[in-house]
Amino acid sequence: MPEIRQLDKHVAELIAAGEVVERPASVVKELLENAIDAGSSAVVVEIENGGLTYLRITDNGCGIAPEQIPVAFLRHATSKLRCAEDLSAIGTLGFRGEALAAISAVSHVDIFSRERGANQGAMLHLDGGIAGEVIPTGCPEGTTICVRELFYNTPARMKFMKKDSAEATAVASIVTHLALSHPDISFKLLRDGQEALHTPSDGKLLSAVYAAMGRDFALSLVPVSGCGGEVRAEGFVTKPLAGHGSRGKQVFFVNGRFVKSQLLTAALEEAYRNRLLKGKFPGCVLHITLPANWVDVNVHPAKTVVKFVSDKQVFDAVYYTVLDALDAENKPAPKKEETPFYRTMTAQEYKAKATVQVPDVKKPAGSFAVKTLPGAQTIYVRDVAPVPKKPFIAPTPDAKKSYIITPPEPVEEKPMQVELPVPEQETIQPKKEIPWRIVGEVLKTYIICEDENETVWLIDKHAAHERIRFDALKANREPLMAQTLLTPVAVDLDADAYDAVLSNLALLRQFAFACEDFGGGTVLVREVPSDIRAEDTAATLEELAHKLVLGRADPMAARDELLHTMACKSAIKAGMTNDRSELAVLVEKVQSGEIQYCPHGRPVKYKLTKYEIEKFFKRA
Ligand code: ADP
Ligand code: MG
Repeated sequence: MPEIRQLDKHVAELIAAGEVVERPASVVKELLENAIDAGSSAVVVEIENGGLTYLRITDNGCGIAPEQIPVAFLRHATSKLRCAEDLSAIGTLGFRGEALAAISAVSHVDIFSRERGANQGAMLHLDGGIAGEVIPTGCPEGTTICVRELFYNTPARMKFMKKDSAEATAVASIVTHLALSHPDISFKLLRDGQEALHTPSDGKLLSAVYAAMGRDFALSLVPVSGCGGEVRAEGFVTKPLAGHGSRGKQVFFVNGRFVKSQLLTAALEEAYRNRLLKGKFPGCVLHITLPANWVDVNVHPAKTVVKFVSDKQVFDAVYYTVLDALDAENKPAPKKEETPFYRTMTAQEYKAKATVQVPDVKKPAGSFAVKTLPGAQTIYVRDVAPVPKKPFIAPTPDAKKSYIITPPEPVEEKPMQVELPVPEQETIQPKKEIPWRIVGEVLKTYIICEDENETVWLIDKHAAHERIRFDALKANREPLMAQTLLTPVAVDLDADAYDAVLSNLALLRQFAFACEDFGGGTVLVREVPSDIRAEDTAATLEELAHKLVLGRADPMAARDELLHTMACKSAIKAGMTNDRSELAVLVEKVQSGEIQYCPHGRPVKYKLTKYEIEKFFKRA
């Protein structure tokens, strides 16, 4: 048997360093986190050759006392933890006391630091973790750490480095994430002397998003804000039409720390279900905040993986707040009340006008309330101007609770009233005015309508109706009616589809298809939904079977896919002639904001402003 020996200190340190310092971007991450923990308001990152030859981070934080500088480079030396109990509620980004030791073990480091208010600072040079003398020196308040020749003593690691440009991109991505996590701090990145990023530090997340992720991304966002119990979700998500080709634009923070989390991704994407085009992914910059002891950040040395005490609460908080923000998006702003001066007042209006108002008790506009009902159900609350809501159906089949997004409770604000005698008189209520006018229909597909804000809308009647049908079917408001076929239809299917149909006969029954095995790859259909034409039977069943095959892994998604087909088949089609009252129903649903996308994520309406039209005709 080979002899077992303890590794010498240097080799052990190199191995440990490998876990924390994988590439230049991980060095930048650790040093920036230290700068943030030190309370800096401005940080500058400079890199050359992707950070491999030269990397310098300058902050204006609290600085380190001269005698403490060598201590900071020892393994497991930290000012952020004292005892084991502190581990259960970590409030700083760093806590493992490993970063400086690991970085200095695999590079040449110079550190300059001066404590706030101190007359003088100090510097220290380290080679491969071996520290020199601490030398008093003049330097600005804060800390500057310069890392040269990363991995000079670990050629094995060096081999894994990508091209300089790839390493520089990874560094930029880290700086972006940290900048988005702290909009109150100014982050600047200089890449081979060129400014690659500079955030303004005005404390506004959107400004940081604009600076770090670009104008187009910033313009495609919807604000999100709300909470469920102790879990709060805040930030921005992309509008459904601005889907991305990958998940690269999903940025999550948990208590200010950038994390990668399948749970958060799933919650976000679940909220976009049935409103995003196939193959597209939403983008986001979302901050999740929850009590420090509800989350474990000590899962991985790189600290980008977290564990939640309650996955379900976190999932639901994110899912419902995002869902709510998406639902609120695009709803037309309520029009200001404009009472024409010539209209006579009703008795009630007169009474209301004559009421002496006590000055308003101001209620903050973005207030929110978390209420726990006597039944102890968590209520999800959105902060922005509330719209009355129906209860949502919980997303997971096991979720028995239904969550309600409630408008903030009205603050008791009773105006002091001077009672006036109301003349006994019956007022005939004027018919509710509809704030839009249907102009007509073109190409037997698009409804044209004009609203009171002088905006013209084109509405795709099939897409709109498909959505209405889909929502109704999904909520089981209008179950599908079955019709018995005069002659049963025999449908030949390929082996997979045949198998899928036979193993889902009960599910198909819910969709008003009565089928039975006819043997040899053939299925006999006796009943179909009354909305579909008998001659479409075979095509529809084939489509359903195909979706069942694809959706084997995820029955929920498969069910939605079947609903898509049924909604599509039963909706009015482009090319059909419809009367005004039918069109009016569609327009009402679309203009009220109740529906915005067809179940496949295509838009249902197109907006043309007066300005756009006038610009075209060169009148503006
Ligand atoms: P950790 O951040 O996990 O505590 P590090 O090795 O990153 O461990 O840093 C060790 C200690 O050095 C920190 O706890 C902190 O006290 C000090 N330190 C590191 N960087 C800075 C900085 N930029 N400004 C002030 N103090 C710092
Ligand atoms: Mg640290």
